Amino acid sequence: MQVMTVIHAQRRERLAAMLSAHEADALLVTRPVNVRYLTGLASSNAAVLVTADAVATLATDSRYAETARRICSDIEVVEERDVAGSLVPLADRVAVEAHHMPVADYFRLGEDLLRLSGLVESVRRVKDEGEIDLIRTACALTDQAFADVLPRLRPGVTEKEIARALETRMIELGAEKPAFDSIVASGPNGSIPHHSPSDRPLERGDLVTMDFGALYAGYHADMTRTVAIGEPAAWQRELYDLVRAAQRAGRHAVRPGAVTHEVDAAARDLIAEAGYGERFGHGLGHGVGLEIHEVPFLSPPKPEPDGEHARLEDRVPVTVEPGVYLPGRGGVRIEDTLVTRDDGPELLTRTTKELLVL
Ligand code: ZN
Ligand code: ZN
Repeated sequence: MQVMTVIHAQRRERLAAMLSAHEADALLVTRPVNVRYLTGLASSNAAVLVTADAVATLATDSRYAETARRICSDIEVVEERDVAGSLVPLADRVAVEAHHMPVADYFRLGEDLLRLSGLVESVRRVKDEGEIDLIRTACALTDQAFADVLPRLRPGVTEKEIARALETRMIELGAEKPAFDSIVASGPNGSIPHHSPSDRPLERGDLVTMDFGALYAGYHADMTRTVAIGEPAAWQRELYDLVRAAQRAGRHAVRPGAVTHEVDAAARDLIAEAGYGERFGHGLGHGVGLEIHEVPFLSPPKPEPDGEHARLEDRVPVTVEPGVYLPGRGGVRIEDTLVTRDDGPELLTRTTKELLVL
């Protein structure tokens, strides 16, 4: 068998080993990203049934069937449009991905189905070195695109033009496409964490926040940098230094065994002590992999702690991205993608975090 075929089979075995604890004989996997993870098949209509004995059956329609037979040579492929309906009868106590399956499909397929949520996602948390290599490449393309576009950041260039330049450059360098809709937020727009790039031209005295990343072989990169156009005002430099210190504290807290909400607190406490706690409204970071946002989430503790998922393991790629947003004035966010390692996190986005004054 090919190397990737073996890797996919190992992933299915890890999933299968979890099924008996949930009293399921099989899991019907319908989320496309999870089907891809378990079989290698990227499609808009496929499902894979994995039994507790790790026997897998893949169903897809005629558009993808030949590809499926080629890359999933070790498992049976059923060619059928109703992918879920064709797989459910193959096992007794079948569980479905309740966080993804439409309610209408659930009732159509039979209400005796077990409902499980997030099982494949939890298998996906810890990456193998091949996956980390792909994320590392995606991050390197992101770094290079930033370096190449930096000279274009000057007064008069619009947010949209910068976003387009970053995205074009990433693709020229080998990315499949941008990992998500790029954010370029200048001046007062910087107070909106997920601002859509506008026709606003950069002005001297702006802070400009750029949040973007490359997609490479299905894996995502995520990086944010904030730069100054012209010499920054004292408040801008102070804000930058605060966010930078918080980001460093967050990165240093990322290690196997760390409790996710404590990693968040390592950065958040610095921002709160400086009086800006109310101006940092989002979580510190998130897992990165086949999805741009996936488990684990580094965020303040919820009323219901998520138990076994509350600690980081080895080889978990995450982002660390504190920000402070001041309505009417602007904002700063600094974000890296890094991966937990026993001897300290490996930084995957390598662009400097010195305040660049352009
Ligand atoms: Zn980001
Ligand atoms: Zn992010």
